[in-house]
Amino acid sequence: SPGLYIVATPIGNLADLSPRAADILARADVLAVEDSRVTAKLLRHIGAKRPMMPYHDHNADQVRPGLIERLGTQAIALVSDAGTPLISDPGFKLVRDARAAGHAVTTIPGPCAAIAALTLAGLPTDRFLFMGFLPAKQGARAATIAEVAAVRTTLIFYESGPRLHAALTALAEGLGDRDAAVTREISKAYEEAVCAPLSMLAERYAETTPKGEIVIVIAPPGAAPPPDEEDVETLLRDALSRLP
Ligand code: SAM
Repeated sequence: SPGLYIVATPIGNLADLSPRAADILARADVLAVEDSRVTAKLLRHIGAKRPMMPYHDHNADQVRPGLIERLGTQAIALVSDAGTPLISDPGFKLVRDARAAGHAVTTIPGPCAAIAALTLAGLPTDRFLFMGFLPAKQGARAATIAEVAAVRTTLIFYESGPRLHAALTALAEGLGDRDAAVTREISKAYEEAVCAPLSMLAERYAETTPKGEIVIVIAPPGAAPPPDEEDVETLLRDALSRLP
């Protein structure tokens, strides 16, 4: 039926495409895509052929009104090159305008690099802050890092290989030497999660530029280990002994 379908696609391993996502991709009237070559590959994988329209940062404002108009009669699937649309990818304004125009909007959830990285890092997951990409320029990057230095949650950043060393160095400087993980090539053949303090990670990636796509996950500040059971008992006994 007509409406906007937000379709998550694999971040590496094509087998991660869900059956429902494949079904929508094969049946949508049109796919709004970041890069038609990338989505064409996915369509070949499921043996489907659908019309595609580019929807990316450079043309979104021009083509959005036309897409909204079509939503009255057509099923439009929004797909990114990889992962969940709208997450460091285009789409938020399309969803906003589709809702404002009263069209149906639904999502086909699936892979997202930030969440996958969080599950690999071995760091607290109860509260986290996703920060997308750090700014490329040194001043803006330091300012963004300073903004989150006091936030008491795990932090998640997207990064690229060539910028990894500079990012890790700036993060160690701005946040202190917290435990962190550099996760790479998630769901691909060379998936890797390197867990170490930020300064050691910065050192490790000083010489070599790692290939592939990267997520940095960083522990909250002063993440003290949880008290073990004996400590809890002592604390309780102390507290009880002080009761009047
Ligand atoms: N919308 C996507 C998602 O849901 O994850 C993210 C798109 S963003 C433009 C691309 C960034 O995601 C990369 O630079 C990298 O930081 C991260 N990423 C994507 N695929 C990845 C993978 N297989 N392993 C590690 N990081 C990945």
